[in-house]
Amino acid sequence: MITKSQLAIQLSKLRTFTNPILKLEQYATDSETAAEIIWTAYLDNDIENRTIADLGSGTGVLAYGCLILGAKKVYLVEKDKEANKIASHNLSQFKNFKIIKSDIKDFRKKVDIVIQNPPFGTKTIHADREFLKKAMQVSKKIYSLHKTSTKDFISTFAKKNNFRIKRIISFSHPIKQTYKHHKKSIHRTKVSCFVLEKISCS
Ligand code: SAH
Repeated sequence: MITKSQLAIQLSKLRTFTNPILKLEQYATDSETAAEIIWTAYLDNDIENRTIADLGSGTGVLAYGCLILGAKKVYLVEKDKEANKIASHNLSQFKNFKIIKSDIKDFRKKVDIVIQNPPFGTKTIHADREFLKKAMQVSKKIYSLHKTSTKDFISTFAKKNNFRIKRIISFSHPIKQTYKHHKKSIHRTKVSCFVLEKISCS
């Protein structure tokens, strides 16, 4: 069994985006942040033997973490062909995953858990909302990374869809210089992983 810091180290060695597409808000989740999210989910019994969807899977950082900690199957849903190639390389040691080259809106499989780092909606307005909506359609438990400042929106959106925020894990998320408009080599934004759970009727 690996530790959380070993997980972060393994994730930091994965291949990342070579030519990130700004419009798709392609930012790989930083390895420490990804390890923290996946570890929290693991301790909450949401990884081992679970069927998981990683929506907007990019280069497969989150999926890798789920697979190494014993997920039963992981679906990676990503519309960018280049990102899918990198993810396929990163996950080559595993068999129990499927990369689906598609827009997340066309994904319909029911899963136990969704783990996602969606676009924050800064380039495509409401992209974050579309991801949350899809996650709520296919799963009863969601780990979703967003800007901390969107908490009120997420809380209202969750309530409307019969979900509740179970917990919030906050980070000072380093975004490495990915695009030309980034002036500092590392830029920090406050982000949080919102753990959402469906409110059962019973
Ligand atoms: N989950 C990855 C990548 C995050 S960046 C990680 O944690 O590292 C967000 C990803 O969502 C990008 O790879 C982008 O190409 C993808 N994406 C954006 N909109 C999408 C959509 N509508 N359908 C499928 N993928 C989408």
